[in-house]
Amino acid sequence: MSERLTADVAIIGGGLMGCSAALALRRMNRSVLLLEQGWCGAQASGVNYGGVRRQGRPEIQLPLAQRSHAIWQSLPELVGSNCEYTISGHLKLARSDAEMAALEEYREQAEKFGLQLEILGRAALRQRYPWLGDKVAGGSLCASDGHANPRLVAAAFAQAAKRQGADLREGATVETAAFDGRQFTVRASNGLEVKAKFLLNCAGAWGATFAEQFGEHVPEFPIFPNMWVTEPMPKLVEPNVGIVGGGFYVRQVARGNFVLGGGRGTGQLALASTRPTSAAMFASMKMACECIPALQNALVIRSWTGVEGSLPDHQPVLGASATTPGLFHAFGFSGAGFQLAPAVGEVLADLVVHGATATPIQAFRIDRFSG
Ligand SMILES: Cc1cc2nc3c(=O)[nH]c(=O)nc-3n(C[C@H](O)[C@H](O)[C@H](O)COP(=O)(O)OP(=O)(O)OC[C@H]3O[C@@H](n4cnc5c(N)ncnc54)[C@H](O)[C@@H]3O)c2cc1C
Repeated sequence: MSERLTADVAIIGGGLMGCSAALALRRMNRSVLLLEQGWCGAQASGVNYGGVRRQGRPEIQLPLAQRSHAIWQSLPELVGSNCEYTISGHLKLARSDAEMAALEEYREQAEKFGLQLEILGRAALRQRYPWLGDKVAGGSLCASDGHANPRLVAAAFAQAAKRQGADLREGATVETAAFDGRQFTVRASNGLEVKAKFLLNCAGAWGATFAEQFGEHVPEFPIFPNMWVTEPMPKLVEPNVGIVGGGFYVRQVARGNFVLGGGRGTGQLALASTRPTSAAMFASMKMACECIPALQNALVIRSWTGVEGSLPDHQPVLGASATTPGLFHAFGFSGAGFQLAPAVGEVLADLVVHGATATPIQAFRIDRFSG
């Protein structure tokens, strides 16, 4: 070992989960050493679509999403930048009566968690958003949802954590992590050895590998959501738009480009190599053009994907290890962790400092997969 360090908390992974945990822990005066194999925010956290939405999340995620929503409002004070966070509204479209009924039902569930949604029928929707196509039968608007620039967010959390005294080590691939009954020893490929009382597993699509090292099997698998962006076009679409069933999602940024997502790309987790797939992209784009006809002549200038850890029930693993005291997991956000991440960092800090959190996370416990 070329360098030996100690900290209150060691964190594996410098995505948005790891960086927001590092910041929250520093704000609670704990020393933090974060190890990132590449660059902070270069994986899922930096290449995602940028949707900051609560609408459409399952009930069990809404308390966490609501906590996060409050933190998103304070980004400039918290991390020194608004990261292009825009409260644009999130509009979910329906194409049939059955889809409208699903939106109505969801509105009632969401209301119990303080999430206000407005259901708009065909005529009201067309009047408010004249750029919608005839296939759209109605929609549900969450006026307080929005979007942000993912390239800025994790980097801003990383820089803020650093300014507050967190030690962030990039280019440090964690090879082993072990617990001797008293403390953790984490060893990285660059010769760094860290001893810490607490360990946070924030390794994203690689999270299950570390859970396994502590005898916890999680059926995590990688997914590669397809993304693409058009040339800048005249400003038209204000809200972040999705559709029942999730066939496509689109937002227009201040410069005029439309950022779209839909379908899956391909990739290899071991190499962290990913590629978008054109067939899936064309199918999603066709649906997007039917709903927003102005997209029909848009020139696509770039497409990409990224790797995200997913779980069979599409819920993350978040909370205490079931085998090892002092170990906490936060991984497998199944394509929807960007909005949640600021609260996930605070929840992890609560668990380390207080041993509990006020935010309900029982549904995300790791041992739901055992047996
Ligand atoms: C293309 C795409 C679009 C998405 N769109 C949205 C969206 O619109 N809205 C939304 O809410 N969510 C979205 N998501 C999901 C969201 O991006 C993720 O849930 C979130 O970023 C996960 O953060 P993370 O920190 O867990 O993972 P990551 O950002 O992947 O971070 C994990 C980090 O761990 C590091 N790591 C792994 N192994 C090791 C090791 N051995 N040693 C050291 N470091 C290691 C990795 O290098 C990585 O940087 C999308 C995801 C993708 C891929």
